[in-house]
Amino acid sequence: MASRLPPLHTGKPRHEHGVITPVEGARIPFALVEGDRPGPCLVVTAGIHGSEYTSIEAALRLARRPARGLAGTILVLPIMNMGAFRARSIYVAPEDGRNLNRMFPGKRDGSFTERLAHWLVMEVYPQADAYLDLHGGDLSEALEPFSLFPRDSQASRELAIVFGLPVAVAAGGEGYTIDAAGRLGKPSVLAEVGGNGVWTEEGVGQLLAGIERVLAHLRMTRAKTEPAARVQVVTMWVPTAEESGLWYPAKRIGDAVQVGETIGQLRTVFGDVVATIAARDAGRVLYTLSSLWVNKGEALLGVGTPIE
Ligand SMILES: [Zn+2]
Repeated sequence: MASRLPPLHTGKPRHEHGVITPVEGARIPFALVEGDRPGPCLVVTAGIHGSEYTSIEAALRLARRPARGLAGTILVLPIMNMGAFRARSIYVAPEDGRNLNRMFPGKRDGSFTERLAHWLVMEVYPQADAYLDLHGGDLSEALEPFSLFPRDSQASRELAIVFGLPVAVAAGGEGYTIDAAGRLGKPSVLAEVGGNGVWTEEGVGQLLAGIERVLAHLRMTRAKTEPAARVQVVTMWVPTAEESGLWYPAKRIGDAVQVGETIGQLRTVFGDVVATIAARDAGRVLYTLSSLWVNKGEALLGVGTPIE
C-alpha cells in the first residue's frame, strides 16, 4: 500500500481516491478533486475523532463533489482515525490511547498518534492554501454549531467568518490541528457540528454550505454563494473535571450563564457532591458533556463569551 499521497496538481480534471499508510498500521482514505483550471489547494480533514459522524459524512460527500468548474484541488482526508471510527472510540485512537487533536506537532519516532500528527504537519499542511478540520460533539457531547480559529491568525478569523457557523471561537492553546497549521501560515478553521453519535442531513448540509462559501472565497469556484448570517466571535471557557464522578450539568446548550452561577456538579454514585462548578465568565453554553460519568481532567462544558 502506498505511503504517500499522489501529486495534488496535475493540470487535468480528475477524481482520484485510495487508501494510504503514511504510518505503520494506519489506513487513511483520501480523495482528490482537481478542477479544470489551475488554482489553490484546500485541505479538508475529518474523523480526527472517529465518532463525530456529521463531519465525517460531510467530508465523504465532499470527496464526491463535481470537479467541473473548480479551480485548483480539494484534498479530502475524511476518516483520519480509521481505528477509532471502527471501534466507535471516544476522543482517542485505540492503537495508543492518545487524542490526535492534542498531539500536534507530533513526533517522527513517537507513538502511533504522534506519528500521524507529524505526518500531517510535514506532508499535508504544507501543501494547503487553506485548511478545514471538521469535527462535532463526540459520542458523549452535545453542542450547537460553532467554529474555532487560532486567535493570532487574522486570515483564519476571516475564513471562520466566511465559513459562517453562527459562533466563531478565537482559540488559544496549542497541540491541536488548526494551531499546528496556523503556525505554518495556513488559514485554518475547525468546524463543530452535530454530536452524540447522531448525524443529520441538516448538519451535513451546514458543513457543506460552509465549505462552498470557503471555495468561493478562495476563488476556487465562481459561485455566487449567499453570505452567512452574522457570525459572533467569542472566547470559550472550558472547565474540566477536578475529580472523576457523575456529572450533573445545571445548564443546557444555548443557556445564558452569569459569573459565579452554578453550572453543574460532580457527585458520587451515592449522591454526595464532590465539586460544584461556578461560572468563571458570563456568556452562553455552546456545548456540554452529555454522559453521566466523567473522568478527571475531561472537559465538562464550554461557555462562549462575546469579544466584539
Ligand atoms: Zn472532535
